[in-house]
Amino acid sequence: MSLLRKSGRQLRLNLFFLFILMGGGAMFLVNDLLIQLLGIIVTIASLVFSWFGINCPKCNYKWLLHFMRTSSSTAWLNDLYRMNKCPKCNYNAKTK
Ligand SMILES: [Zn+2]
Repeated sequence: MSLLRKSGRQLRLNLFFLFILMGGGAMFLVNDLLIQLLGIIVTIASLVFSWFGINCPKCNYKWLLHFMRTSSSTAWLNDLYRMNKCPKCNYNAKTK
């Protein structure tokens, strides 16, 4: 089981994708300025939420930002899913 799932961050990542899809859909698929603006706000809010929300429960290190910075654009999501310990403090959900 990945650390993401064990630490409860998997749900946040799934919500992030859901809201990105909804925001993106509203921005590009709906021909209504108000809904497009709403889509932009939803997209930005979910980005900010996930930057801060997908973090280490122990040291508060921002995992999503870490992998977006250190991995390639095609590999960061895979690396994030396969992470089994925090890159900063080695937290692995077994030790407190
Ligand atoms: Zn940590």
